[in-house]
Amino acid sequence: MSNITFTMIKPDAVKAGHIGAILAQINEAGFRIKAMKMTKLSMETAGRFYEVHKERPFYGELCEFMSSGHIVAAILEKNNAVADFRTLIGATNPAQAEEGTIRKRFATSVGENAVHGSDSDENALIEGSFFFAGTEQF
Ligand code: ATP
Ligand code: MG
Repeated sequence: MSNITFTMIKPDAVKAGHIGAILAQINEAGFRIKAMKMTKLSMETAGRFYEVHKERPFYGELCEFMSSGHIVAAILEKNNAVADFRTLIGATNPAQAEEGTIRKRFATSVGENAVHGSDSDENALIEGSFFFAGTEQF
């Protein structure tokens, strides 16, 4: 089992001024920040990041949204990082997310759901290296 996961604070949460509160909740949950940057995705970059979803009906909307503003990308470290981070963020649809989870607190809809979290150890490594060179990971 790997001990890293990858996250993005999505454009909705950045625009609403929630970067600080979300990072505080991530730190309080015991994750260590191994790499972090604020950046903006192009349609093309968002399309490559979410390539696994390209057959899904919401793919175009997802890429438009993810390139609509700044994001904060980070690699996080903790034992059982992938599963624990998905518990911390809550269900994809904030209406179904547990009380106190990041999506329950900060997301507005299934599309604009405040944060991304990797769904497997393998994808955490792929997604982390999509954004960060080895020399940017500490
Ligand atoms: P993420 O990968 O962002 O952590 P997730 O793993 O909970 O989210 P996925 O099924 O991987 O959910 O979907 C990726 C993203 O696509 C979601 O976070 C959401 O922004 C968007 N999405 C998923 N389902 C829908 C939908 N039905 N309508 C609109 N957007 C959706
Ligand atoms: Mg996912």
